[in-house]
Amino acid sequence: MYPDGVRCPACADAVLDKEGNCRTCGGVWLDEERVEAQAPLAYTGGAYSERHCPACDETMDEPRIYDVPVDRCAAHGIWFDKAELEEVLRRSRGDAPAPVPEPSPADSLNMLIDAVRIWRREP
Ligand SMILES: [Zn+2]
Ligand SMILES: [Zn+2]
Repeated sequence: MYPDGVRCPACADAVLDKEGNCRTCGGVWLDEERVEAQAPLAYTGGAYSERHCPACDETMDEPRIYDVPVDRCAAHGIWFDKAELEEVLRRSRGDAPAPVPEPSPADSLNMLIDAVRIWRREP
């Protein structure tokens, strides 16, 4: 399905196997149809990825699937980093998203102090 020699979009030197797996970083490159067969895609926004499509070398989009940012070439497929694929599959099963740690009060205070310092430097 995939020709030999497709470069991993995440690793400089790694080459994907025929199934689209990178043995170096554990990421996987999948056809959009294959992803949709596993889990309905829920694009909830998007930005541009800094990565390039391994098939056409165009800059990829960065849509979110189950709020996990992935890299996507509309023509060729979707790249999942190892942790991203696991998280998408986990969320597709309806598990609660991994909790995002709230900034502690000390962090918030330091952020405020930094903000004030930046503000004071302005003319
Ligand atoms: Zn890789
Ligand atoms: Zn492409």
